[in-house]
Amino acid sequence: MRVLVTGGAGYIGSHFVRLLADEQIESVVLDNLSAGHRDAVPPNVPLVCADVGDRGAVRALLGEYQPTAVVHFAGLIQVGESVRAPDLYYGVNLVQTLAMLEELTRGGVQLMVMSSTAAVYGVPQTVPIPEDHPRNPINAYGATKLAVERALQDWERAYGLRHAALRYFNAAGAHPSGTLAERHDPETHLIPLAIDAAIGRRGALTIFGEDWPTEDGTCVRDYIHVQDLATAHLQALRRLEQGAPSMTLNLGTGRGISVREIVDSVQRVSGRQVPVQQGTRRQGDPPRLVACASLAAEALGWKPQRSEVDQMIEDALRSRLARE
Ligand code: UDP
Repeated sequence: MRVLVTGGAGYIGSHFVRLLADEQIESVVLDNLSAGHRDAVPPNVPLVCADVGDRGAVRALLGEYQPTAVVHFAGLIQVGESVRAPDLYYGVNLVQTLAMLEELTRGGVQLMVMSSTAAVYGVPQTVPIPEDHPRNPINAYGATKLAVERALQDWERAYGLRHAALRYFNAAGAHPSGTLAERHDPETHLIPLAIDAAIGRRGALTIFGEDWPTEDGTCVRDYIHVQDLATAHLQALRRLEQGAPSMTLNLGTGRGISVREIVDSVQRVSGRQVPVQQGTRRQGDPPRLVACASLAAEALGWKPQRSEVDQMIEDALRSRLARE
């Protein structure tokens, strides 16, 4: 197996590439480095620096490295930004992905694992959320991911591309070695912002709404360790390779954690106070997103191993302290 990893220089992608290397599986990374980091890719893994929609670059890469499968992490991921600039999201997450798919199909790639998201569900009618819950995204980020999921179903019928669409809940934590990290610029995600506030690298954390219909009034999410996500991708890929039919799976723990509970954990693990200030609700935020996680356990034989909240915060803190 040789794997093309798009977005392999990014947060989740780089953890997956590291896992492939640990398993002695060859990979090639396609990343435009708009959000990824060259130093997150191991030196012996080829990195092609181009957009996923750059057909010439994709064609050349397929010719040179002849991957047998693709794991597609590349894309834009910020809920708030997607509401303000949907054109960007449709352009990158959908149009460019479709261009790449066309090249992959021509190049004979038959297997694909894609990053999808809990945002495809919109405001859930039931929590925990099973995979067959109605998909009603309330932001362009979720809408574009859902559009790609649907395209993949059509591609499979027409061209036989088998796939796994993995709907992540909230990725968290970092490689236990501290050598890989969540590094977004600007950073918009809760855990790195809360840690940076605790260690004095930025000012108070703004809590986006404390009047939500949840236990403590703050939003509830299902945080899953990035290492557990990486493992699920590899298991999905292996299942597809063995001939498993296409699958759509939630990747979460099944347990909800509020913004306040994250702040408490950061304080516990770091031994520092997290300065907070009250903010207004963020557009496009559902109050509660928690996975029904049983299908992934069944289909992949997968169970999160490192997703206890304090463990995730400890790993995230270590990786942030390792970087000046
Ligand atoms: N959040 C917050 N303050 C911040 C960033 C995030 O209160 O500065 C909240 C956000 O409203 C959401 C949760 O933290 O309920 C997780 O947000 P994040 O952006 O990390 O991930 P998302 O759920 O949007 O994928």
